[in-house]
Amino acid sequence: MEEHGEEKPAPLSGFRVARILGIEIVINPTWLVIFVLVAISFGQLFLETKVDGVRYPGGALPWIFGALTAIVFFFGLLLHELAHSYVAKRNGVEIGRITLFIFGGAAEMSEELPTAAAEFKTAIAGPIVTFLISGVFFGLYALTDSSGWGPLLVTPLFYLAWVNLSIGIFNLLPGFPLDGGRILRAILWKLTGNMIKATRIATYFGRGVGVLLICAGVVTFMNGNLIGGIWFILIGIFLDRIARESYRQTVLKVAASEARVEDIMYLDVPFVDIQTPLTSLRSNYFGRYNLPAFPVCREGEVVGIVTRTDLLEVSPSEWEVLSTERIMRPLRQEQFISPDTPIEKVLKPMFAGEMFFLVVSDGKIRGLLTRDEVIRFIEARARRIEKG
Ligand SMILES: [Zn+2]
Repeated sequence: MEEHGEEKPAPLSGFRVARILGIEIVINPTWLVIFVLVAISFGQLFLETKVDGVRYPGGALPWIFGALTAIVFFFGLLLHELAHSYVAKRNGVEIGRITLFIFGGAAEMSEELPTAAAEFKTAIAGPIVTFLISGVFFGLYALTDSSGWGPLLVTPLFYLAWVNLSIGIFNLLPGFPLDGGRILRAILWKLTGNMIKATRIATYFGRGVGVLLICAGVVTFMNGNLIGGIWFILIGIFLDRIARESYRQTVLKVAASEARVEDIMYLDVPFVDIQTPLTSLRSNYFGRYNLPAFPVCREGEVVGIVTRTDLLEVSPSEWEVLSTERIMRPLRQEQFISPDTPIEKVLKPMFAGEMFFLVVSDGKIRGLLTRDEVIRFIEARARRIEKG
């Protein structure tokens, strides 16, 4: 139910609710679904079960305390993520934000932890905090007697203790990217000295845990617990998917590290004058050079970029009468980069949709960087890393 790491199948967005230790706390809209489900489940548990032979008071109370217990429960999940984030930060890895979403919480890490020891400590910090929270609730539960507020509190404290204990144990399942899988990866990394190999093995375990959860879900479903069964199946599918995705992202992050713009950019890129007719653009530029785009200039100054795709979208019958100005795109400030920029820095705007960058130094255009070329470069390197 809880999982951490920057890895997720789709980017998580949402409302910013707080800032703790310099980390933004964001609530994804899907979290509201799970919050309501958890609040109702607690309410139902309080209504239907007896703890220490005490039945919960009736009326609206089980539901009110169910919702309050859900809030405390998610606060515990947040502390779990903050524990990961705090240790990661101490090891030099920046945490962008923590997002609460339908399957729990996720702390976004901008890069991989530098060493196996740092990975081990960061991964284990979350479950330790969750076990401490469970211990605190077991302690409070033991201290609460059935006088005064006792009858209202005994049951929530009892379940908070057990739920946190279960979540701590679940997170220690040895499947990457669950915490236990990260711990496994850290150990394998230490033993083999090869982070990618360690990640690959931990990923197989992650997919294995996913499949086991799906099987457990099917059995639970067959035994009549429909919601519980579906929930296990969904988590199993999610884990299998996120395990593969996380492995891929790890390989890509490693492949992208240490490369710079100048290693990938096209050199000797000619300029196109803005008045150039499209027929000439076709024959003298796209026909002559194997480049996907050219910078466009007016009186020696760069004013935009023209791409092969844009040219091909114009019907050839119009090429004679139109000039480059009609199809060029203006350049934004983010599209000008320097040759020594690390590739990791351009990945973010690239994935946000930027296709082309002009490489500039000392006020001169040095080359052209394209998203396709960056992807080709990283993929080729990733293949070599995976083989090695
Ligand atoms: Zn965790």
